[in-house]
Amino acid sequence: MECIFCKIITGEIPSYKLYEDDNVLVFLDITQGTKGHTLIIPKKHVKNIYELDEQTSRDVFTVVPRIANALKKAFNPIGLNIVSNNEKPLQSVFHFHIHLIPRYEDDGMKLSTINNYGKYDSDYFKKLVTAVQNYL
Ligand code: 5GP
Ligand code: ZN
Repeated sequence: MECIFCKIITGEIPSYKLYEDDNVLVFLDITQGTKGHTLIIPKKHVKNIYELDEQTSRDVFTVVPRIANALKKAFNPIGLNIVSNNEKPLQSVFHFHIHLIPRYEDDGMKLSTINNYGKYDSDYFKKLVTAVQNYL
């Protein structure tokens, strides 16, 4: 299996582990975008959010608040971003993962969204709702 994260799970590639249980591994991101930048992954190889089954989803998302609180206590950040890149444009490792990114004053990290408030009318919003509900 040519998956970097599967190799981290088996120990073939070393990592700085923060937490581990039967189904989940939590370790420091090698790039440390900010101090404490952490990845949460399922031990089961799942490519991305589109392939995540509900039990595996429960397993990984369940530990998020616990890790977030530990990072907050350890590093006293002003905030925290939770990010998951799926397919383009940003996913680079194709084993599902959640980034926890503690934030600090002037940390230089950019994860802002575009504000299109007021740009669309209610017909547009209703069409979006219908389009999604067709598939739920
Ligand atoms: P993506 O861009 O797919 O959302 O994020 C993949 C993340 O995995 C990147 O932030 C990258 O720094 C991290 N990463 C890639 N290879 C390794 C590695 O060998 N060890 C660790 N700890 N992190 C890695
Ligand atoms: Zn994998």
